[in-house]
Amino acid sequence: MSSSWHSAQVLKWFDRHGRNHLPWQQNPTPYRVWVSEIMLQQTQVATVIDYYQRFMARFPTVAALAKAPLDEVLHLWTGLGYYARARNMHHAAKQVMEQFAGEFPCQVAELEQLKGIGRSTAGAIASLGCGQHAAILDGNVKRVLARAYGVDGWPGKSAVAKQLWQLTEQLTPQQRCADYNQAMMDLGALLCKGKQPDCQRCPLHSRCHAYQHDQIAELPGKKPRKALPEKSCWLAIVLTNDQQTLLQQRPPSGLWGGLWGFPQFQQQSELNDYIAELAVAPAEIQQWQTFRHTFSHFHLDITPVVIALANELGEVNELQQRWVNIQQPENLGFAAPTAKILKQLAKQTHSRSRS
Ligand code: SF4
Repeated sequence: MSSSWHSAQVLKWFDRHGRNHLPWQQNPTPYRVWVSEIMLQQTQVATVIDYYQRFMARFPTVAALAKAPLDEVLHLWTGLGYYARARNMHHAAKQVMEQFAGEFPCQVAELEQLKGIGRSTAGAIASLGCGQHAAILDGNVKRVLARAYGVDGWPGKSAVAKQLWQLTEQLTPQQRCADYNQAMMDLGALLCKGKQPDCQRCPLHSRCHAYQHDQIAELPGKKPRKALPEKSCWLAIVLTNDQQTLLQQRPPSGLWGGLWGFPQFQQQSELNDYIAELAVAPAEIQQWQTFRHTFSHFHLDITPVVIALANELGEVNELQQRWVNIQQPENLGFAAPTAKILKQLAKQTHSRSRS
């Protein structure tokens, strides 16, 4: 299909059915578009909206974000997952202040220098936030193009990605580039869904390769499947009788980097050593049911062990440790399993104190 037919169809559909009510589409600026684009990576629009509004209320400008402690940024990210996104944003905000005098850049090449901004996100910020001509290729756009133009192979492979980039650049019109990019993302999210796309309502269906050749299930090509490795860990939930629990901050990079969590051990024997070395002997030790948390690259089987102390351990003077009240945890960044256990602890002790 010709590029002018393609973009005309897509824009006509956008004018009738595209999304234009999302919070980051109101008064778009490169900063606002950037925050939304990062949050939308790996996360659905419906989930992102509340997070976005809370984030913007607290950090209305890139300067406010750059000045904030990382803990607070991670706290506002708690539950969104993929925390490297938040750490990278915090780092990039500082880059904007230092390298671009606080002015968010608008050129794709400059945007790509900021931590966590790849080519497609740079294109989205330049087009949606700055009104420039720039192509995008996020997951939604990849799916639409792979199907509509019959591009075989897994888009994570560089040869396939290269083909898709050529296609998106060729198809992105000079006029109304921002609307076109938004329209392609909307088409992918609303109609050309992974499973059961709504082809009847799609403006491309009369010339779509996958629809015409019955190849929707095969396109885009799937990532070659590998069974995820399984790992396990033990968590020490040290709990005092005045409802304080001990949390440690993880190292800044790596798994759950910078987040607060319970002391964690790979082996049960390491946990036992930790308990034996506590300054106060536990009054009760209770092992909870193991549960599984799945990351993109492995499964982690987590066994929490609650260690109830009759007396407090006293002050913890290590920088990366602190006591946290389980009924009112502070504004810290927690990984999803930590937040889940804290909630469970609060519920249990609350019902115990009422009975
Ligand atoms: S016709 Fe169907 S498969 Fe083709 S682009 Fe539209 S929604 Fe996707």
